[in-house]
Amino acid sequence: MTKITPSTKNTQRHIAIIGAGMAGITAARTLIQAGFKVTVLDKSRGAGGRMSTRRTEFGSFDHGAQYFTVRDDRFRQMMAWALGTAPDVARPWAANAVRVLDSQGRTLEAALPSREPHWVAQPGMNALVSHMAAPLVAKKQVMFNQQVRLIERSANGQYSLQCHNPLDSSAKPTSMGGFDAVLLAIPSVQAQALLQDSASARSLSKSELLAQSFCRLLTDFSQKISAVTVSPCWTLMLAFPNALPLKPNEPVRPLGPQWNAARSTHHRIAWLARESSKPSRGGIERWTVQASAAWSQEHLEDDSERVKAKLLKAFAEITHIRAEPAYAQVHRWRYAKTDQALGSSHLWDQQTGIGVCGDWCLGHRVEDAFISGLDAAYAVLNRN
Ligand SMILES: Cc1cc2nc3c(=O)[nH]c(=O)nc-3n(C[C@H](O)[C@H](O)[C@H](O)COP(=O)(O)OP(=O)(O)OC[C@H]3O[C@@H](n4cnc5c(N)ncnc54)[C@H](O)[C@@H]3O)c2cc1C
Repeated sequence: MTKITPSTKNTQRHIAIIGAGMAGITAARTLIQAGFKVTVLDKSRGAGGRMSTRRTEFGSFDHGAQYFTVRDDRFRQMMAWALGTAPDVARPWAANAVRVLDSQGRTLEAALPSREPHWVAQPGMNALVSHMAAPLVAKKQVMFNQQVRLIERSANGQYSLQCHNPLDSSAKPTSMGGFDAVLLAIPSVQAQALLQDSASARSLSKSELLAQSFCRLLTDFSQKISAVTVSPCWTLMLAFPNALPLKPNEPVRPLGPQWNAARSTHHRIAWLARESSKPSRGGIERWTVQASAAWSQEHLEDDSERVKAKLLKAFAEITHIRAEPAYAQVHRWRYAKTDQALGSSHLWDQQTGIGVCGDWCLGHRVEDAFISGLDAAYAVLNRN
């Protein structure tokens, strides 16, 4: 990775980053290292985005990203830093020998020895980005519960962001200003909507030269992003406390299959993982089940109870676990996995100071989000 030299020139520049997932936090850290003033805003309560962890009374579930791989040297360097500063922040998951099953749970393709470690963050997938974000959070450079609804450009060329607290629907929107540039590190559909809304709001007001170039740029970016396609994913989380040992000190006897992770060709289900087999997640037997992209799309607007019942039935068909789960919840990811990526690691316009990044620029993996955020930050700092 190129060594970044902080420049005093950059300290005057204030960059807003929308999104505290892997892409946004990577960009933020890089720009801070180069001497920029950075504020990250995220609509959620914590950092991590789709590398997320649901905590329940039965234990946690990684209901977004299941694991990540490390192929690029720049990501490897970041992981070396992360493990150097917090040795337990991630560990390879031993169950990485993933098999392929048919719709009745019979093995179609045996698990091959894996080519590369499948890393999981500890104690939950959000821990890696949380660790990366920790110094920024400590310095109040990250603001949570802030959903950005509009990007506005003032006559002096600076930006203000109209924000809303998703936890308080009665609260009035707030405006945060004084930004020299804005980087959107959010899913493609949301980036496109934010750019379009900001362009239409701007075109209603005075059409000075600055506003015109801003609107043109937003429309141009929005058009480029429209080539990106993304699939949804319904995710089922199950806990079976009755699989606990009857006596203390007895090992936990897993229910059903002896494998811990599998891809499936069942028309409803694409992936199943025994959550409790991941490092630091032991205890109660828990499963995370991802519906296939086609089925998720077809049932996107269905009632969640109906989705849960259908996925539970498919889960039983594949695993032959027919026990009643003590916990069963579904989560709908509207923008889970990129089908068609942008094809370039980021977009950045020097004249207006607007950029976009995220996994969808390059692909659908955690590592793609990291590279995209890093490249976007380099684009900002190389041209300032
Ligand atoms: C079900 C599922 C399974 C996956 N499995 C894997 C896997 O096994 N391996 C793998 O490598 N990857 C996997 N992924 C993909 C991986 O999670 C993503 O590639 C990565 O987390 C994307 O990071 P990001 O920073 O680009 O975006 P995100 O993580 O989506 O972060 C974007 C952030 O922006 C915030 N945001 C959005 N709009 C606004 C707004 N208007 N204002 C303020 N904040 C906003 C969101 O709250 C979020 O925190 C999976 C994803 C899903 C959903």
